Amino acid sequence: MSALPGAPYLARRPDGALVLEGHALDALASRYGTPLYVYSRGAMRAALASYQQALRGREHLVCYAMKANSSLAVLQTFAEAGAGFDIVSGGELARVLAAGGQASRIVFSGVGKTRDEMRAALLAGGTGVRCFNVESLPELDRLDQVARSLGRVAPVSLRVNPDVDAGTHPYISTGLKGNKFGIAHGEAVAAYRHAASLPGLKVVGIDCHIGSQITQIAPYLDALDRLLDLVEAVEAAGIAIHHVDVGGGLGITYTDEQPPAAADLVSALLARLDARGHGHREVLFEPGRSLVGNAGVLVTTVEVLKPGRTNDGGKNFCIVDAAMNDLVRPAMYEAWMAMEPCQRREGAALTWDVVGPICESGDWLGRDRALALQPGDRIAILSAGAYGMVMASNYNTRPRAAEVMVDGDTLHLVRERESVAELFAHERLLPR
Ligand SMILES: *Cc1c(COP(=O)(O)O)cnc(C)c1O
Repeated sequence: MSALPGAPYLARRPDGALVLEGHALDALASRYGTPLYVYSRGAMRAALASYQQALRGREHLVCYAMKANSSLAVLQTFAEAGAGFDIVSGGELARVLAAGGQASRIVFSGVGKTRDEMRAALLAGGTGVRCFNVESLPELDRLDQVARSLGRVAPVSLRVNPDVDAGTHPYISTGLKGNKFGIAHGEAVAAYRHAASLPGLKVVGIDCHIGSQITQIAPYLDALDRLLDLVEAVEAAGIAIHHVDVGGGLGITYTDEQPPAAADLVSALLARLDARGHGHREVLFEPGRSLVGNAGVLVTTVEVLKPGRTNDGGKNFCIVDAAMNDLVRPAMYEAWMAMEPCQRREGAALTWDVVGPICESGDWLGRDRALALQPGDRIAILSAGAYGMVMASNYNTRPRAAEVMVDGDTLHLVRERESVAELFAHERLLPR
């Protein structure tokens, strides 16, 4: 068996089969159809445990940023393993409660929380959520009003924009001036004074989230330093801050990235907290991608091979049954995702652009991939566990994929494939 980069739970058997925890992906595709998301429950648990173990002995909470993959079975897996959750909508709140998550372990992020979402979060589970991560002054006022109307006090943390460059794609960099997230560093102390003056709010923490797919520790340390400067200034103004939430954003290996291990990131941050005299504080993390990204693959079937004409230097197109509606990362972020045939075959590899059947030139999954293929072969797109299924749409009236969770020897179909009839079940024809 040989291991694959970024996918420790996947292996290539000597007979050429690609297996996930011992289950051949080709066989799963035959049984459940394609496109098919397949997740390793063990890989998800191990990723969470690496954060939790590094935090042992500290007051802490690892809040899974569920927007990365919000399937109920994934949420259930993390809830059972003691995780909290970072949510960004009322829909995510309902989902995580349905999966067995506890309200008292939920932090609520997002720039545009509605009054209804605030109400639901204040009442969730009887106690309300653990904390609102507030992103603006108007949100403080709105939350204060909603909380008082319910006779509640809302626990708040201010999301501060530390203005550090996480060195990532502009669409997934969130900690710089000039993007929509958080309260500017220079305005944070005044915002805390305002929050402390409102009777419907109680200040409990501070947070930031500087971006996604971050592959270095340094930007986190810079951001933490900026947060601790503020904690000291806010506490000097007589407002106590209990927890420090350093957000999520740790990268994974898609190709040759070498992000730090979660344990190393945690250790470095704890050491900085200690060095600055803040070692007693509760620490929160909000990892998304690093808990699920490398735990999942998307399996797709080759429908049509369309070789380019040699006389015009044309490209070879491999048209598969998965598309941008199933996995939008390549189309949206020009993301590079590794591809492996589910069953290796003999013969020369050609260089293919792997594309979906959708009527958009942007509908591609991988460019210039050397693969030996025949129609009917299956391809696994690796590291598809994060920002895959959650971003799937029904464009071109395409039902969304099924999802299978592998748990050791056991297979669970955790989401049935949508039917076409379901896609227009809520629509109405005009009177005839
Ligand atoms: C998206 C997001 C996260 C998780 O980011 P990852 O890169 O998936 O770890 C954490 N916190 C907030 C506020 C987010 O918006």
